[in-house]
Amino acid sequence: MPKRVLIAYCIDVDACANWLNTKTGSHANASDVSRGVFGANVGTDRLLKFFDQQGIKATWFMPSHSILSFPTQMAKVRDAGHEIGLHGYTHEYVSHLTEAQERKVMAKSIEVYKEFTGKHPRGWAAPAWEVSPRSMSILEEFGLEYDHSMMHHDCQPYYVADMGDTVIHTDYSKDPDEWMVPMKEQVPTKIVELPASWFIDDWPPMQFSHRSPSSNGFVNPEDVERQWRDQFSFFYREYDTFIFPISGHPQVSGRSNVLLMQERFIEWLKTHEGVEFMTLEQICDEYKSGKIAGASVTAGV
Ligand SMILES: [Zn+2]
Repeated sequence: MPKRVLIAYCIDVDACANWLNTKTGSHANASDVSRGVFGANVGTDRLLKFFDQQGIKATWFMPSHSILSFPTQMAKVRDAGHEIGLHGYTHEYVSHLTEAQERKVMAKSIEVYKEFTGKHPRGWAAPAWEVSPRSMSILEEFGLEYDHSMMHHDCQPYYVADMGDTVIHTDYSKDPDEWMVPMKEQVPTKIVELPASWFIDDWPPMQFSHRSPSSNGFVNPEDVERQWRDQFSFFYREYDTFIFPISGHPQVSGRSNVLLMQERFIEWLKTHEGVEFMTLEQICDEYKSGKIAGASVTAGV
């Protein structure tokens, strides 16, 4: 069977939104916000040039805040023919929202998206990949087709279920008999999952923030490159077909040393037979039409 590898570049244009959303409601630091401005302007321009040189159409997940705050820059992305996906309004953490708030943000994001693109969105990536127990059903209800937030698999697409009430949370204040309960059956929605991975993402290793314990920022990009290569090499050895979504941010991947690393990485990927670069919506179409295999990832059956 000929090898078929679908690679997607996924760019989160968080810009200022993720700095403004401090989770606690505290005020953002102006220096942090300036990093977002760098991403929307300098980083976006560099990545657009990079993708143009590489002949790659990427999927850019844009918070509404980025579309409305940097309309000229985001229009460059749109007009270059890249796919645009939803990424919240101000990078709010969906798992912290009430159901009513989650629906309101989704409705507003779609309104801004349609005004900007003239189309209905097909895909969503949860800000910080944090979803609520009902997010997949809400995507379905709002007419979306794919999600790029979940991690049931690391290289295969699948139809994704909501966590909903399939789990009982471990609550030490209660008698163990109340929470010593296995997972219930997960019922897949019509939403295609094109899974995310923190391990093929530029932010955790290469973005410094003293406000976020999970950030680093001083990892040698060559070490990250080696980790990305090893993951790809394993999938390439083990699977006839697989998908390989790479996650980047203009304020990280737009920096000189990180961009040089990705130039080397892409050239290396292109030496492999069967490699194709696609947007996530194209991969979604391939999966839905049965042109590429996927996985079954249900629990409780
Ligand atoms: Zn983001």
